Amino acid sequence: MNEGTYIIPFSRTHRCGAVSEADVGKRVRLMGWVARIRNLGGLRFIDLRDRFGTVQLLVDPEVGDLEEITKGLRMEDVIAVEGVVERRPDDMVRRDKPTGAVEVATKRVVVLNRSEVPPFTITETVKANEDLRLRYRYLDLRRRPVKEKLELRHKVILAVRNFLDAKGFVEIETPMLVRATPEGARDYLVPSRVHPGRFYALPQSPQLYKQILMVAGFDRYFQLARCLRDEDLRADRQPEHTQIDIEMSFVSEDDVFRLTESLMQEIFRVGRAVVLETPFPVMSYEEVILKYGTDKPDLRLGMEIFSLSEAFEGMEFDVIQEALARNEAVRGFVVPRGAQFSRKQLESLEELARAEGAKGLLHLKFQDGKMKGPIAKYLRESISRKLIEVTGLGEGDLLIAIAGPEVESSQVLGKLRFEVGRKESEKRDESFRFLWVNDFPLFEWDEDNKSYVPSHHLFSMPKEEDIPFLETDPLKVRANLYDLVCNGVELASGSIRIHVRKLQERILEIAGISRDEAARRFGFLLEALEYGAPPHGGIAPGLDRIVMILAGCDSIRDVIAFPKTQRAVSLMDDAPSPVDPGQLKELHIQLSEDVGRKE
Ligand code: ASP
Repeated sequence: MNEGTYIIPFSRTHRCGAVSEADVGKRVRLMGWVARIRNLGGLRFIDLRDRFGTVQLLVDPEVGDLEEITKGLRMEDVIAVEGVVERRPDDMVRRDKPTGAVEVATKRVVVLNRSEVPPFTITETVKANEDLRLRYRYLDLRRRPVKEKLELRHKVILAVRNFLDAKGFVEIETPMLVRATPEGARDYLVPSRVHPGRFYALPQSPQLYKQILMVAGFDRYFQLARCLRDEDLRADRQPEHTQIDIEMSFVSEDDVFRLTESLMQEIFRVGRAVVLETPFPVMSYEEVILKYGTDKPDLRLGMEIFSLSEAFEGMEFDVIQEALARNEAVRGFVVPRGAQFSRKQLESLEELARAEGAKGLLHLKFQDGKMKGPIAKYLRESISRKLIEVTGLGEGDLLIAIAGPEVESSQVLGKLRFEVGRKESEKRDESFRFLWVNDFPLFEWDEDNKSYVPSHHLFSMPKEEDIPFLETDPLKVRANLYDLVCNGVELASGSIRIHVRKLQERILEIAGISRDEAARRFGFLLEALEYGAPPHGGIAPGLDRIVMILAGCDSIRDVIAFPKTQRAVSLMDDAPSPVDPGQLKELHIQLSEDVGRKE
C-alpha cells in the first residue's frame, strides 16, 4: 500500500459535492477524504468527501491496478481520483443527496496521504463527547453540521461588512496590545520584555479607541473586534469573543436602534432567510424587570407577570393581607393549560421559589369554570372576576403568584416562568423575538466593596433629567444605555457616551476612581474629550451569539472554530501551558513558589 505522495499527481476539475447529472459522460478529477467503503457484488463503492459534499466512486477491481490500490484504503485516507461520471442505475438513485443521481466510474486512484483510525467517525451525528471532539477539532470540523456553522459565520461576517460599508462605515483596526484599564472583567496581561515590569493588556473591547475615533472625526466606525476578558467562567462564556463593534457621531439612541435593526434584518435575511419585522419593541429596564423578572426575557414564552395587588385587595388571607399592609405587592402570571400540573410539579415550583428567596407560592387552577386550589376558598366572586380580567386566566390555566416586595417577587417569578417555559420547549417556537431594553441604571451598588459600580461601563451618558440625582442618589440615575435581546439571549449592548470631560470626570469620581487614578487610567480619553469631541454613541452586537441563534445551537462553542472549554482551556493545543524558565526570565517574571510546586 502506497503511503502517500509529496505532490498532487494532477489538478482537480471538480469538487466532490458539485458533481451532478450535467456532468454525465465527463472525465473528472477529484480529491478528498474516504468517508465510507462498501464492497458489494465484486464491486467497491467509496464515498469521497470534500468541503463541498460527498460523491460515490464506483471501483471495479478488475480495472487496472485499482484492486491493489483501494483494498487497503481506510476511512479518512486522502486520495486523488480520476474517473468518468455516470448515471446511477434507476434503483440506486438517491434523490435525498445532491450527488445521489450519479457516481464516478473510477479509472485511477492515487493515495495522497494516509490517516490513522480517527477517534470518532466523521458522521453528521456523533456520540463522542465534546472534550474528545475539541481535542481533535480538525476531525470534528470535517463533519458537515459543524463545518456549515462556520460557513454560516463567514456569510454573516461578509453581510455585516457589506452592509456597514454601504451605510458609510469605515472598518478600522484598533490595537491588540493596549493599556490595562479594567472595564468590568479582568484584563489578560502581556508582559513587556523591553520595558521591565510593564504590561500591556489585551483589549476587553475597543471602547475607548472607538470613542477616540469619533473625536478624530471618523463619524461612522466599525470593526469585527476580538474582545478578551479574563472572567470567572460562567456557562457559555469564552475568554475571547467577537463583537460587531460600532460607533457613530451625532446620533441619538433612536438612530442607533434603527441602524442596528436594519443590520439585524440583513443578517437574518442572509443567515436564515427570514424577514424580521422592525422596529423592535422597546421596554425600559424597570418595566422589563417587573413584567418578566429579568432583563433578558424570552418573549416566545409569553406569560407576562402582572400586578395582582389590586385584584387581591380585601381578600381575607393572611399572607396577602400582611404583604399589602406592608406596602408590598402580589404579582403573578398565568401558565396556559397549567391546571393539569401535578401536585409534585407545583411543589417543585414552590421549592424553587423558596430557594430564590420567596416566602411561598400561591396558585389557583381554573377548571370547570371554577377557581381551585388551597386558597380558592378565600376568594370572593368579585376577586375571581378581577383576577380573570387582569390576567386573562382561562379554562384549564394555572395562576401562580407571590406576595412580597415588588421587584424581588417579580425576579423570583421570572425564574419560575423560565423553568415552566423550558419544560414546554418541545413545542419549540422557531420565531425570533427581539426586544430593546433601555434606561438601565447607570450604577449598581457593590455591597462587597461598598461602592457604586457602573452597570455597563463608565462611559455611558446619564439621562439628562436624572443628572441632578448624581449628587443625591446615584442609584436613581438612569443612562442612555441599551441592550438588544433576542429569545432570552443578550445580543448587543451599547450606549450614548459622555462627550464632556467634566461630566466624565464626575462619573469616574462617583465610581470611586480618584482624580489621580482617572488621570492615570483614562487621561488620554479625558484629554481627547477636550478637543472638540462630538456627541456620539454606539453598540456592539456579539457575533458568536448571533451566529449561534441563526444556527439554532445552544452553545457559542459550536460556532467558534477553535473554542476553549468552560475552564478556558484549549484541548487541542493545550493552552494555557507552562513556559520555559528562560522565557519567563526574559520577561522579568518570577513565579510564586506555590505555583512552581503545582506544576
Ligand atoms: N464596549 C461595550 C461592550 O463591550 C459595547 C458598547 O458599549 O459599545 O460591551
